[in-house]
Amino acid sequence: MSTYGIDLGTTYSCIARLDSNGNPEVIRNNEDNSNTLASVVFFENENNVIVGQVAKDNVETDGDRVVQFVKREIGKPDNRIYEFDGKTYTPVEISALILTRLKNIVESQGDTIDDVVITVPAYFGLEERSATKQAGELAGLNVLSLINEPTAAALSYCARQFQEDRIILVYDLGGGTFDVTVVKMSMTPNDESGEVQKITVLATGGDDRLGGKDWDDRLFDYILRACCEENGLSPEDIEAETRQDIRGKVEEAKRKLSQKEKTKVRIDVNGSRTEIVITRKDFERMTADKVAQTMNFVESTLQKVSDVEIDTVLLVGGSTYMPMIKEAVEQRFPGKVQQHDPDQAVAKGAAIYASMLGVAVENTVDGESSSTADGEMSDDKRAELAAKFTVEDQTPRSFGPGVVDTKGSKNKYILENFIKIGEKMPAIATKTYYPIEDNQERVRLRAFENMSMDDALIPCVNEEGEPQATDPAHNVKLLGELVVNLPPNTPKTTPIQVTFKVDASGVHVEAINTATGDKFETFLRTASDIDIEKSAVHQLRISSD
Ligand code: ADP
Ligand code: MG
Repeated sequence: MSTYGIDLGTTYSCIARLDSNGNPEVIRNNEDNSNTLASVVFFENENNVIVGQVAKDNVETDGDRVVQFVKREIGKPDNRIYEFDGKTYTPVEISALILTRLKNIVESQGDTIDDVVITVPAYFGLEERSATKQAGELAGLNVLSLINEPTAAALSYCARQFQEDRIILVYDLGGGTFDVTVVKMSMTPNDESGEVQKITVLATGGDDRLGGKDWDDRLFDYILRACCEENGLSPEDIEAETRQDIRGKVEEAKRKLSQKEKTKVRIDVNGSRTEIVITRKDFERMTADKVAQTMNFVESTLQKVSDVEIDTVLLVGGSTYMPMIKEAVEQRFPGKVQQHDPDQAVAKGAAIYASMLGVAVENTVDGESSSTADGEMSDDKRAELAAKFTVEDQTPRSFGPGVVDTKGSKNKYILENFIKIGEKMPAIATKTYYPIEDNQERVRLRAFENMSMDDALIPCVNEEGEPQATDPAHNVKLLGELVVNLPPNTPKTTPIQVTFKVDASGVHVEAINTATGDKFETFLRTASDIDIEKSAVHQLRISSD
């Protein structure tokens, strides 16, 4: 059995496993001569779908046949569809193509791939998570679990340098997203009266539209302007081919500037060859405001966790190879910055987690050790790892039912948050409500997810049955509904006990009519296949009076 960890990234993905010594190793993408795989899919024609660098090289020339940044669409309510050659693809299917390519990379090197752990951003909600899992299954992988990206990064850091209680700030600047996460590592007792290191997420922040791409864009503008100056042209005179030429060269130039003080790019400007020299200093000057933006997000995330002292800052994400990033973070957190293979740390952490889970699965499923393939880590090693760490799963969102508050002059439809972001999973909470009126035939109990820490929110539900929160930042989403049928002559004072249970696979909603003992339940994974009643009747109210 081979167990792998996969970082399914917005711009680049990566796959890793543990070697025979228990050390994480990335499986190289030899075709692209890289440790990572560009998360880009090019639908060349009906019979040829290309994933990786070649697909990325086609962004400029065949942009309308290329899909990139699909992670931004996965599990989102607008259910975006892509169409090529008469076939349609969902974001889950596109993601599955990327995962299949990673699987093929492993197989082309002679290994088989069975169980995997896939990473997701800490702020992903239930639908994004279940869609990611679906993509894995569609690619023929057995998804043991998902793990939060910053948690995986912390795990890979701690496996390398074991330390006791620590507060770690993970600064993850990728290609299209910037994520800041504060993670806590703490020693807790385990079942065998020993101690394990527990990893929990304390706060998240960042921007899903800020990343390496912004640095590329600045460099593009700079080179374009330089080309104009050299040739006495104005930007409108620059032909499309020249723009494509520049676009195709900026990322490479950026990467070179991470190593060298200056680099040259040769551009064919409307037919005349032009050489532009860019110094690292120039590059830093033209992107200084972007660096400052990331640091502002660091500060605002820190404000969410008062009274904690950051012990270590982990630099994660390919864009942290840029020296300007390390310098800025060092300046804010002198002596605390750590950086190890920033574009691979997440996949490596996922590989460690996958192996830990592998032990748990073997112990519970067959109780016997399976034979070890060549080069694969021994069961003892895995057991050792599993004994060292535990990852506490936390609710990625707040959850609760929509109910009617009858107090005051006007009935208000509110969302009561039973379970808040960051609670230990499985999280469970119960509350009692009442029918709105006597002889109510049924209750349509709506279940919501949101990003607020408030006890109650005021969403109203529009004609389509979609929630419209007062504050869009709370990101209120309707997950589904539970229909509770009430027997004839039910008085409005009948207590209905509502329970929400949230675990890694979804939300379980249960309602018990305490007068009859009738129990109704449903399991909600995604909102894609629900049929929501549009009217505001058939609800439950908060108080019995
Ligand atoms: P993702 O955003 O998918 O998580 P990564 O963490 O691998 O992906 O980050 C990808 C970004 O890192 C891209 O914008 C890429 O150009 C950038 N990058 C990778 N290597 C370097 C480097 N040596 N110098 C500067 N930027 C780099
Ligand atoms: Mg990433």
